[in-house]
Amino acid sequence: MGTILDGAAIAAQIQSEVRAEVARLAPHGIRPGLAAVLASQDPASAIYVRSKVRTCEELGLASDLILPPDTVTTEEMLALIGGLNAREDIDGILIQLPLPPQVQARRLLEAVSPEKDVDGFHPVNVGRLQTGQAAFPPCTAAGMIELLKRSKLPIAGRHAVVVGRSDIVGKPTAILLLAENATVTICHSKTRDLRALTLQADILVAAIGRPGFITADMVKPGAVILDVGINRIATREEFDKYFAGDQRREELFRRRGSAIVGDVHPAAFLQAGAYTPVPGGVGPLTIAMLMANTVRAARLRRGLPRPECL
Ligand code: NDP
Repeated sequence: MGTILDGAAIAAQIQSEVRAEVARLAPHGIRPGLAAVLASQDPASAIYVRSKVRTCEELGLASDLILPPDTVTTEEMLALIGGLNAREDIDGILIQLPLPPQVQARRLLEAVSPEKDVDGFHPVNVGRLQTGQAAFPPCTAAGMIELLKRSKLPIAGRHAVVVGRSDIVGKPTAILLLAENATVTICHSKTRDLRALTLQADILVAAIGRPGFITADMVKPGAVILDVGINRIATREEFDKYFAGDQRREELFRRRGSAIVGDVHPAAFLQAGAYTPVPGGVGPLTIAMLMANTVRAARLRRGLPRPECL
């Protein structure tokens, strides 16, 4: 079994740096502020957004949770975003995905001012990131790079294989790994002989959205595995497939009626040199990086230099 990469502990470290930075800005009359817009009724999204707002409060950032009805139109959302772009007390704008089906997500993401785009989804930030310019990197991808760096795991020269090519996770992760001088292979649902590629990975990123998809036979012994997946399982059969004999999880499963499994089968971690657990690995870093991006946005918008630590 590889070393567990404790994402929660590293996220706590980043959060304490954010808290210190918020305290440094306070005497200048600056309080970084995040607006979070939650338009969908999806319960998982509501949990994510509320934990982002709670973290803002814990770290001393201001937050504004905006809850449009799920019947909201694209035009109404655009007007709302226009208002947030103009607000002096808001440094970061987060549009929680997924959006209701009648809303054109792409138009909204492009309407967010790039200087308040702390999720890093605006094409201007995507382009800046790709061309090696200062940008807000998407939080999950940035979190994984921080995790590797702070765990002193080398990236340069390593073969990183990213399974998944979404705009939110897979692509930006590949770009950031490339910027750190990894040799990067990106895989997706049309990739032929996926196993032959994953077996070459020194760093294997799983961002697929399918429970336990990466199995032990797909992992090179000693590889670093970053498991992004968050999949809820609710049947006994599924639970036993992944966690048979795991007493701690068994108890939680009985109590809650469900469990979370990543995109990597837990047995594959036996092959790893180091790996992120699910939960407690990549997830907490996503929120920590959102906070870091918001503090950076607050500084940059006022022409102050980027904080040293974040
Ligand atoms: P998407 O559904 O947008 O993307 C999934 C990717 O996986 C696609 O590129 C798809 O390929 C690829 N894929 C699907 N099936 C296969 C297959 N059989 N073989 C190879 N590749 C395949 O998901 P996201 O990127 O948004 O999220 C991925 C996972 O990460 C989810 O479990 C999500 O919940 C989780 N997540 C976790 C976060 C965190 O903070 N920890 C943050 C964001 C997401 P193709 O492009 O060809 O369809």
